[in-house]
Amino acid sequence: MNFIDPHIHMISRTTDDYQRMAYSQCAAVSEPAFWAGFDRGTAAGFHDYFRQLTDYEPKRAALFHIRHYCWLCINAKEAENVSLSREVIAMIPEFLKKPNVLGIGEIGLNKNTRNEATIFQEHLDLAVKTNELILIHTPHLEDKYKGTRMIVDMLKNDRRVNPARVCVDHVEEHTVRLALDNGFWCGMTLYPTTKCTPARAADIIEMVGTDRIMANSAGDWGVSDPLAIPQLIQELKRRGHPESTIKKIVYDNPLAFWRQANNWVEWPTETAAAGKSLAGSKS
Ligand SMILES: [Zn+2]
Repeated sequence: MNFIDPHIHMISRTTDDYQRMAYSQCAAVSEPAFWAGFDRGTAAGFHDYFRQLTDYEPKRAALFHIRHYCWLCINAKEAENVSLSREVIAMIPEFLKKPNVLGIGEIGLNKNTRNEATIFQEHLDLAVKTNELILIHTPHLEDKYKGTRMIVDMLKNDRRVNPARVCVDHVEEHTVRLALDNGFWCGMTLYPTTKCTPARAADIIEMVGTDRIMANSAGDWGVSDPLAIPQLIQELKRRGHPESTIKKIVYDNPLAFWRQANNWVEWPTETAAAGKSLAGSKS
C-alpha cells in the first residue's frame, strides 16, 4: 500500500533509509524544521539549513521517486534564544515560495516557557499574515497535556487562525480530543521508545475514528524507525480494518491536508486517478 510519512527529519537519515522507504511504497514525506541535536549559534546556520530542506533534500528523495516537502521555523528548543529566533523568523519569507514548502512548522512548545510562547506567537503571526499552513509540535511526556492545552488556547485566542489549516502533531490518548474537537487536524507519532506504538495508534483510531487524523514516524537522529507507518498498516490489517480505512489514514488524509498549501501542485498520478473515477461515474 502506498503511504505518506508527513513528519520525518530526513536530513538526519541515510540514503539507505530513502531506499528502504521506497521499497515499502513510500510516495512522499514532509520534513518539518527542527532541532539539529545541538543549539545552532547563528542565523546563517539556519539559512543553510533552509537551503538544505528546500534544495538539496528534495533531490535526494527524488532519486527514489519519493516526493519531499518541508516546513520552516525555528524549533521550540532553540526558541529560548529570542533574538536569534527573531533573526530566523525574519529570514523565512525568502523561502516560502520554494516549491516544496508546505508552511510554518514544527512550531510549538518544549518546556512550556515564556520565551517559547513568545516565539510561538511570532511564528503564528507570520503564518496568518502569509496564509501558510501550520504544523504544531506538542511537548513530550509529562509536559504534553499542559503544553497542548496552552498551544490550543493560543491558537483559539487568535481569531485569524483557521483550525482546518493547522495540524497538531504528536497527539496521544489524552490529547487527541483537544486537537480534533477544536477543529484541527492531528498527527500520531510512532516512536520506538516514547510516544505511540503502532498498537496504541490503532487503539486511538478505533477510539476517535478516521477524520482529520494521520500517522508519522518522526524519524530523526535519535532511535526511530522510518518504516513505522508500514508497521501501523500491518497492525490495522491484522485487526481487520478495510483497506480504504487504512489508506485514508496513511495516504488520503495527509494529502488532503497538504493540498491546502499555497505552493501545492497536484500530482500527475492523482489527477489521472481523479479523471478516471470521474469518467467512471459518467458511464
Ligand atoms: Zn519532528
